[in-house]
Amino acid sequence: EEDDISRSPENLSNFAVKFNNNSRLGESVDFVLRQKLRVWCRFSDTCWELGHVQSLSGQNAKILSNGKISTVAVESLLPANPDILDGTEDLINLSYLNEPSLLHSLKCRYTDDNIYTKAGPVLVAVNPFKKVHLYGNDFLEAYNHRRLGSPHTYAVADAAFSELMRDGVNQSIIISGESGAGKTETAKIAMQYLAALGGGSGIALKIMHTNPILEAFGNAKTSRNDNSSRFGKLFEMQFSMTGSLCGAKIQTFLLEKSRVVQHVKGERSYHIFYQLCAGASLDLKDKLNLKSSHEYDYLKQSDCLSISDVDDAQMFQMLMKAFDNVGICKEDQENAFAALAVVLWLGNVKFEVIDNENHVQVIPAEGVTTAAKLMGCEIDELMLALSTHTIQAGNDSIVQRLTLQQAIDTRDALAKSIYASLFEWLVEQVNISLEAGKRHTGRCINILDIFGFESFHNNSFEQFCINYTNERLQQHFIRHLFKLEQEEYTQDGIDWSNVDFIDNTECLNLFEKKPLGLLSLLDEESNFPKATDLTLAVKFQQHLSSNPCFKGEIDGAFKIRHYAGEVLYDTSRFLEKNRDPIYSDTVQLLQICSCKLFQSFASRMLNQSKPLTIPHWLNGTDSQKHSVGTKFKAQLFRLMQRLESTTPHFIRCIKPNSKQLPGMFENDIVLEQLRCCGVLEVVRISRSGYPTRFTHQHFAQRYGFLLLRDVDFLDPLSVSISILYQFHILPEMYQVGYTKLFFRSGQIVALENARKRT
Ligand code: ATP
Ligand code: MG
Repeated sequence: EEDDISRSPENLSNFAVKFNNNSRLGESVDFVLRQKLRVWCRFSDTCWELGHVQSLSGQNAKILSNGKISTVAVESLLPANPDILDGTEDLINLSYLNEPSLLHSLKCRYTDDNIYTKAGPVLVAVNPFKKVHLYGNDFLEAYNHRRLGSPHTYAVADAAFSELMRDGVNQSIIISGESGAGKTETAKIAMQYLAALGGGSGIALKIMHTNPILEAFGNAKTSRNDNSSRFGKLFEMQFSMTGSLCGAKIQTFLLEKSRVVQHVKGERSYHIFYQLCAGASLDLKDKLNLKSSHEYDYLKQSDCLSISDVDDAQMFQMLMKAFDNVGICKEDQENAFAALAVVLWLGNVKFEVIDNENHVQVIPAEGVTTAAKLMGCEIDELMLALSTHTIQAGNDSIVQRLTLQQAIDTRDALAKSIYASLFEWLVEQVNISLEAGKRHTGRCINILDIFGFESFHNNSFEQFCINYTNERLQQHFIRHLFKLEQEEYTQDGIDWSNVDFIDNTECLNLFEKKPLGLLSLLDEESNFPKATDLTLAVKFQQHLSSNPCFKGEIDGAFKIRHYAGEVLYDTSRFLEKNRDPIYSDTVQLLQICSCKLFQSFASRMLNQSKPLTIPHWLNGTDSQKHSVGTKFKAQLFRLMQRLESTTPHFIRCIKPNSKQLPGMFENDIVLEQLRCCGVLEVVRISRSGYPTRFTHQHFAQRYGFLLLRDVDFLDPLSVSISILYQFHILPEMYQVGYTKLFFRSGQIVALENARKRT
């Protein structure tokens, strides 16, 4: 009998075989077809339409979709979920976990402004690009102590807080997603919840006011996000034994300092420069000889000085307020502004060629005179430092003139390192003012807002570091998911061994293995003065081609197979970016500046890279001990160590379109991100295990009446077992735990249908 599959063992075993052989996310469509249920018809990789099966003949099916009947090959069909599951709060509830079903669920919710959805233990947040009514006091109240259960960043923060208080184990909220997906906003929303919960005291206000400061100095307009964070950050919120907020600490990662001197058309440098130019008082403008932003070469190069709907002058006022609230004193504020003006004026320094070997001198003009004045050094000293280099040869020092390109590099390197030092110094000042002091208990919730996986047309050293970070975080993520699953299985006494475990160790080895991993080979090559990016690429190819995650390409390129997909990297400028040379003459100049802040910048630069590192065109004999790659790896290891000792909570932010527009949900863009941030991984992991779970009671209650024999006198477990037998659910499709039944996905459909028909 065709339409009652649930009572036909033959069909069921057919279903089981299909299920097991299916490597894609999709399940066997057999059952759905025979039942004439809803299906997804595939028109292209990302275009699926919902339809109803009308009839079946051989390998084709007649499908009613959008009011039309068409013939579709069975292999282009995937089962769709019953419409009752359309708005489900947790994707794991779906009977069919295929890609179109996941997308459909997210989209249905998104259309109703339900931007949050769970995927098992992970919260998925789809950026609304508009104000949604999900925040503020009423919602803060409602989520407190899990009174409101629907998915929300507040709920995640609440869970972290409760677990911190209950178990005394530190927590972390790990937020990831690509640029513009909403990580920073989500981090602020989590902070807001925790500040309200632990709050009332002045510290909560202080903590919230660190955001405008960090964003002014660390965010910029890019082509993908008008307020893009150009650094990673870990925000540690510290609590007392009784759960009140008592301090905070910020750690930052990999500020993109090249943006200070260079950015592409349509993008901007850091917000603070434009805010300062637009919002400074007349008095401050006078002190810093400040002009408007279009007069600075560093700012005007990209033909983009403003952001629509953003008033830089007003932002500057908010920044000043934030400075005051956080407790950054007026003197520090003014010093910081002076350092910014120095960077801007350095950008206006020009050189003229004075001989036929392209050697230069600085043109004495407003740029160099203002910069020298603000730094507290002589104009001549600054001019020399920017146009010459001193080489120590025994006891003698020889002064060499720089060529035009060398001088420009020296100037830009000085501007970049002043800005990077300023950023670090500022974060330190903020940290000092947020310190918990005596009340520090060690209890904390970390909020990690860090760059997501990146794959562009052109990928360089920055993407290399970013994607390496994401491999590490992905490993952390997968291990946690498996641990959670495993714990639940073991607790309920069921067999865990037939769930396979896939992780990304191989790719991590590719980066980290010593001496033959990408990072150590890169350092080795960075130490050869004569090495070039091409010799680096050859070296990679020579030593790493046996790793399945690596593939050498022509023209100095190579590919890495990341968990989120294959990325093609171009080695050009890898060596230089990894060396990040310090230009000793300018650092020595900073040391003798009368301005204390600049002196401290000099020690900061020297401390970070001992022994002194120098660019290859100067004097290539000193070896480089602390390359950017190695320093970053060490920082990442410390971060991972910190995260390992906490209970993680994952939030995956999704950008629904690349136009930063509300109400637009583009399947291909979303699907790609679900893949990259591991949401499909969660689903895969649950599929490889037993995602559908019922307590014995619940199962017996729900399906007991379908039994053909009288079961009134039986206990719930026995009722459940009888149901399983009666419906011929295959033994490999379920396991019976102490308290729960665990099912492979898709097993419940037959029971649900039988239930509906009765
Ligand atoms: P990047 O990696 O470039 O720093 P990001 O993931 O931190 O990107 P955000 O800056 O947090 O992205 O978000 C980009 C923009 O999206 C925000 O400026 C805001 O306009 C909007 N947005 C994000 N989340 C929300 C939200 N929950 N509600 C309303 N708007 C949001
Ligand atoms: Mg951000």
